[in-house]
Amino acid sequence: MTGQHQRTAARLPRHCGPAAWNAILPDQPALPVLDHDLSADVTIIGGGFAGLSAARRLHQLDPTLRVALLEAGRFADSSAGRNSGFMIDLPHDLSSDNYAGDGLDSDRATIGLNRRAIAFARDVARDCALTSEIVDPSGKINAAATPAGDRHNRDYAAHLDRLGEPSTLLDAAEMRAITGSAHYTSGLFTPGTVMLQPASYIRALSQHLAGQVMVFERSPATGFQRQGTGWQVQTPGGRIATGHIVLANNGHLESFGYYQRRLMHICLYASMTTALSDDQIRRLGGQSRWGVTPADPMGTSVRRISGSYGTRILIRTCGSFSPTLDPHPHFMRHAARVHDRKFAERFPQLGDVGMEHRWGGMLCLSRNGSAAFGPLEPGVLTACCQNGLGTARGTLQGMGIAEHLLGVPSPIADHFLAQPQPPRLPPAPIASLGANAYLRWKEWRSGRE
Ligand SMILES: Cc1cc2nc3c(=O)[nH]c(=O)nc-3n(C[C@H](O)[C@H](O)[C@H](O)COP(=O)(O)OP(=O)(O)OC[C@H]3O[C@@H](n4cnc5c(N)ncnc54)[C@H](O)[C@@H]3O)c2cc1C
Repeated sequence: MTGQHQRTAARLPRHCGPAAWNAILPDQPALPVLDHDLSADVTIIGGGFAGLSAARRLHQLDPTLRVALLEAGRFADSSAGRNSGFMIDLPHDLSSDNYAGDGLDSDRATIGLNRRAIAFARDVARDCALTSEIVDPSGKINAAATPAGDRHNRDYAAHLDRLGEPSTLLDAAEMRAITGSAHYTSGLFTPGTVMLQPASYIRALSQHLAGQVMVFERSPATGFQRQGTGWQVQTPGGRIATGHIVLANNGHLESFGYYQRRLMHICLYASMTTALSDDQIRRLGGQSRWGVTPADPMGTSVRRISGSYGTRILIRTCGSFSPTLDPHPHFMRHAARVHDRKFAERFPQLGDVGMEHRWGGMLCLSRNGSAAFGPLEPGVLTACCQNGLGTARGTLQGMGIAEHLLGVPSPIADHFLAQPQPPRLPPAPIASLGANAYLRWKEWRSGRE
């Protein structure tokens, strides 16, 4: 912050490796760069799940509203194109041992909200004519590879049963028939997760919105200042005079001086194979598309995808605490070694398959799982901090902030506004050392999972 009414971005997003989901697609049509001054009723900063959903919801509620959306980079190049694409309906508390949430009532509320986000994404899929390669209501499997993982699955199944939610326990043979891997000892299938090709989804939504609101890419908001009763947002190529600002830039909320030392910035790492040859696909066996999350939340997610970009496998595990929002190359090299080992453990029949893309991407978490949501100061609102589940929670926060801004009754906004504030973090060096040691320990403890 450089003055009482001026906020300046202390940093802008920087990426580590390619956004693989984006990199395997053909070149994307460019959307405009902001190169002139203009005015808007609402300016949204950030074009991930939260920002794009906020823009869509604002336009749905009031098509006359002048909405501008600024994305710092290309659409789908940030975490929106770097995640694993599980849009999960059920409680998925990453800090727990088995994903169960706080209790039955709060879990039912979570499920109801997540399903609203999924319904929103399915509406996007309908409006943009997206195929099941992009938005696939196929469900997912919690895969276990150890007795402890099997126990997590059984505990989680019992918890879902108490919630009245269906799930199916799978044995090792059924897991092998689906994944082609003999690594897994059990699985828990739940039908409500939607599997996204996240970059295709984000690209399609941004292109669709460009016909309805003002959408700009490669146009970072570098600062904003009070101007009369509203605000002026600055970018390198032009300024926007605006009534309201919605910060939908996830962890970079802190770069504008808000929620300082209350947000935890975690970098997650992933790798994606080359497209498999026909012979490699035959050796792999199993079904053509599937997605498994680990029974232990700190274990390894794996997806097999198939589409215009061929058949590929994605491995996602390892994380590092990155308070400056910069993924560190040292952690990336460590993660790459772990990814290769996890891949070899699961698919010994694919010893000749290499990784084509490796990348890191940022998550924003709070110590108590709360979002950073709602008014920050007059005319400035936030829809950030998705606690690792941003495909559903980011969508939800975008919908909720739009409804709140326009004064529409909103159970979504009420939910986030009722959450306690994210608590402060310990001083920086202690937080970094402690968090990285804790992450390594949790990874080690997850073992073969
Ligand atoms: C490896 C990995 C795997 C993951 N797997 C999953 C998963 O399977 N399921 C799931 O639900 N979540 C997953 N996530 C988390 C998910 O990607 C995030 O929670 C989600 O992207 C958050 O959405 P968002 O819109 O809030 O933020 P983001 O997607 O980060 O979007 C924020 C946008 O703001 C832009 N921005 C920042 N600063 C500025 C500025 N000054 N001006 C303009 N624009 C700016 C950024 O460029 C970015 O595009 C994963 C993340 C990673 C890294």
